[in-house]
Amino acid sequence: MSNDTVVVAGGGGFIGGHLVRDLLSEGRRVRSVDIKPTSDWYQVHNDAENLVLDLRLAEACRQAVAGCADVYNLASDMGGMGFIENNKALCMLSVLINTHMLQEAQNEGVRRFFYSSSACVYAEDKQTDPDNPGLKESDAYPAMPEDGYGWEKLFSERMCRHFREDFGLYTRTARYHNVYGPNGTWDGGREKAPAAISRKVAEAKLSGNHEIEVWGDGEQTRSFMYIDDCVYGTKAIFDSHVLEPINLGSSEMVTINQLVDIVEDIAGIHVERKYDLSAPKGVRGRNSDNTMIQEQLGWEPSTSLREGLEKTYAWIFDQIVALDPTP
Ligand code: NAD
Repeated sequence: MSNDTVVVAGGGGFIGGHLVRDLLSEGRRVRSVDIKPTSDWYQVHNDAENLVLDLRLAEACRQAVAGCADVYNLASDMGGMGFIENNKALCMLSVLINTHMLQEAQNEGVRRFFYSSSACVYAEDKQTDPDNPGLKESDAYPAMPEDGYGWEKLFSERMCRHFREDFGLYTRTARYHNVYGPNGTWDGGREKAPAAISRKVAEAKLSGNHEIEVWGDGEQTRSFMYIDDCVYGTKAIFDSHVLEPINLGSSEMVTINQLVDIVEDIAGIHVERKYDLSAPKGVRGRNSDNTMIQEQLGWEPSTSLREGLEKTYAWIFDQIVALDPTP
């Protein structure tokens, strides 16, 4: 490996798989690392060095960063609301990944370190109104993040900051707001709303049973960022002078009902919505305030939800058909 190798931790996952592909297309040497066997990776890029390691362990992190220049740390034990509300200890154990990755990156003398934080760091009391004007970076404090997952992200953000301030390690942190697209989690309990709704509508279309379950009353709001914008923004933030955690998300806010409307339209069917008010639903309203990213990078995610969902729905539809090709 040459010393300009870039490491993508969590490269077998959704965002990591897309990032590895993009970095390879730029001619970078890439080492992709994940705990899952490669047969379970969303994308396996044979031009990359693919390693299966448990990055909760310091020794594995040492192996992961050996001889490399840049590190993107995307590895974490995570999922949609259904997963993070019911697996808080598992979510918090991801602190071991970021702690050991930072320590070993520092010991190895890597040039730069990226951390993927989340909109779940934002204080819950700023997200009670469905008509959310957009969360500003300063809204993370006073701290009252999502229990479990959000606390771990907030803590790890601060650890990146202190490694930068105390040890001089170049760190950059993005707060991702819901990312979606092809080659991601679409079933099994860890999927997020765009994939879950796409799957339910595709299954309704294929089965002829047009009733689908919607978590909550469908009036909770979110914004969703298409994967191509996420990859572009991740690299731009990594290369930037932005020292503090910065939002990376779409500002096109919709209700979950509007999300279902769009997917219905793409699928060309009408579904009956059965609302499960006892299901995990997260905060009432969340949107990304993109003032800072516009000021700092002169850019913000711009793929429309309709355009991104068309690609995502088509990919999920194909996955379902591939599993059971009988008409
Ligand atoms: P993902 O679950 O698809 O990818 C994460 C990967 O990390 C998985 O492949 C998983 O196997 C791997 N991993 C978990 N534990 C590991 C360990 N001990 N050692 C090595 N690898 C391990 O998730 P994603 O959507 O690609 O998210 C990537 C990052 O972005 C995560 O840190 C996540 O918290 C953050 N994020 C994602 C979103 C989103 O909407 N997808 C939103 C906010 C933040």
